[in-house]
Amino acid sequence: MKKILTQIAFALGSLLLATTAQAQDADRSITKVAGDVYRFQNNFHFSLVTVTDDGVVVVDPINSGAATWLKENLSQITDKPITHLIYSHSHGDHASGGSDLGADTVIAQANAPETIDGVKPTLRFDDTKTLEVGGKTFEMTWLGEGHGEDMIAVVVRPENVAFITDVAAPKRLPYQTMPSSSVDAWIDQVKKVQTLDFEIFAPAHGNVGVKADTDDVLKYMETLRAEVLAGLKAGKSVEELQASVTLDDYKDWIQYDAWRPLNVKGMAEYLIKAGKVN
Ligand SMILES: [Zn+2]
Repeated sequence: MKKILTQIAFALGSLLLATTAQAQDADRSITKVAGDVYRFQNNFHFSLVTVTDDGVVVVDPINSGAATWLKENLSQITDKPITHLIYSHSHGDHASGGSDLGADTVIAQANAPETIDGVKPTLRFDDTKTLEVGGKTFEMTWLGEGHGEDMIAVVVRPENVAFITDVAAPKRLPYQTMPSSSVDAWIDQVKKVQTLDFEIFAPAHGNVGVKADTDDVLKYMETLRAEVLAGLKAGKSVEELQASVTLDDYKDWIQYDAWRPLNVKGMAEYLIKAGKVN
């Protein structure tokens, strides 16, 4: 018995060590998207880093550890300091640790809270804002309410790269049960992204794609909505729909296995709550 207990204690100890090591060795890198535009990866989150003639513009700090690493490793791509921080939106998993970047100019959409993890934006805008920094243009557009109330897209020129957070990602399912004020409002956010002029789709989660990937995301959400709504109208339960709405065309998308049933659940709960079924 004592031997077994010792073995269990050892196994637990190893597990703890492995978990600690994982936390310390975050998967971090800076990779080029196009021209002077890079993505900074921190595990499953990405931020956008653009080197201009007058300084570096960062979209999203992610968190304190990530922001500190980015600042310390920026010399991989430039000697210039971080001058501007833009928040894609204020959700804590993308917007924490902003003060660690040390940017003088901090930009957020008007609906963002007074301070974001202790950082007070120096510039706010309602619908659109164009920023010119050191030969680059940053076109910021509010995507409306849906996933978040203060979500913006940032298009960088001349590279024509769009940085899109949470609302859509190339060949990747929407997050779990699609937390939002309304799934239809989220769908409208995707439609708003479609109206923007860009070529390269750089998401905050998943792989870089092209603008046409936005069309596929919209098609996925509309197909999901239509199939779940038809099923609910036919009297099927959420559990039955999780089994029958298989969305086979999207089997190779990121998170298909884990999030398809959750997407079905989230869509069903939204449609019922919003009174769309009767
Ligand atoms: Zn979010």
